[in-house]
Amino acid sequence: MRPEHRRGLVVAVAVAAAASLVTLARAPDWRHAAADRPGAATAAGTPAGTPAGPSPTGTSVPAGAAPAGAPRLPPDSRGLPAVVAHGPRDRPLVALTFDGDMTPVMWHRLDTGAVASYANPAVIDELVRLRVPASFFLTGMWAQRYPTEVRRIAADPMFEVGNHSFAHGAFTPRCYTLSPLPWSGMRADVVRAAAVLQQLVPRLTPYFRFPGGCYDDRARAALAPLRLTVAGFDVASGDAFGRDPDAIVAHTLAAVRDGSIVVMHISAGTAPMTAVALPRIVAGLRTRGFRLVRFSDLVGLDGAARLDGPARLDRMAGSRAA
Ligand SMILES: [Zn+2]
Repeated sequence: MRPEHRRGLVVAVAVAAAASLVTLARAPDWRHAAADRPGAATAAGTPAGTPAGPSPTGTSVPAGAAPAGAPRLPPDSRGLPAVVAHGPRDRPLVALTFDGDMTPVMWHRLDTGAVASYANPAVIDELVRLRVPASFFLTGMWAQRYPTEVRRIAADPMFEVGNHSFAHGAFTPRCYTLSPLPWSGMRADVVRAAAVLQQLVPRLTPYFRFPGGCYDDRARAALAPLRLTVAGFDVASGDAFGRDPDAIVAHTLAAVRDGSIVVMHISAGTAPMTAVALPRIVAGLRTRGFRLVRFSDLVGLDGAARLDGPARLDRMAGSRAA
């Protein structure tokens, strides 16, 4: 284990223990970003040294007309953004999705050399080599740090890009150790991320994934004017902090079923084995007859899950395998 990973895990365990949270061993894989926020991290906002992004207005719509092939769902019966947790359970379609997390603390670690990179171009290489359509949910800060990778993803018609917030803050009062955003700042955070992404992604989708998978009615209400469709998931691959590609492959293949949306990561710094596990996951799914599609291909299909009311996606996704 490289020193930065050991440090990250130590911080994660300490913070989780202090907050009386679930143990790291049972943590869903996307908690890696929480480990990159020490307990002393400031809530909301960016520290000195963080690059300035476009000014948030909080009022503009980040994705006006949805690009062709990326349908948005109408809001639910209460006017809140629809959440797609998985596709139809009666068709062998599976969507692989890749999150690009970046927090001010992670940015600082890059600047100080504590972590070499939070990008993982090998993931893109493997997807291209294997001809796998995929969906990427990127934070604004990740896009600012890795514009070359974002442009490469955006230029490939197999891929699509959605919004994952600006700085991976929490949209609920408690979301593991993510720093909570104030309710009043949630919409502006998403708009700010969209403004960054739109500079690099000509066909930004109207899809948003909440950091940590945490949301409630208040968070959805904050984003309602933006007319986004929320991207959930039902399989956490276990690639974050996963050191054993065999375990990632085995867990993912065991958990996937018809209509599954799988969360993986495009971050070498915190999910170092994703590109190693990916070819075997793809081969295993294809051998079982699954067709790999993008998130947008599942949106709007009959039988795609739409959730009403508060939910915690991590509970639906279950814990990651050991
Ligand atoms: Zn994330």
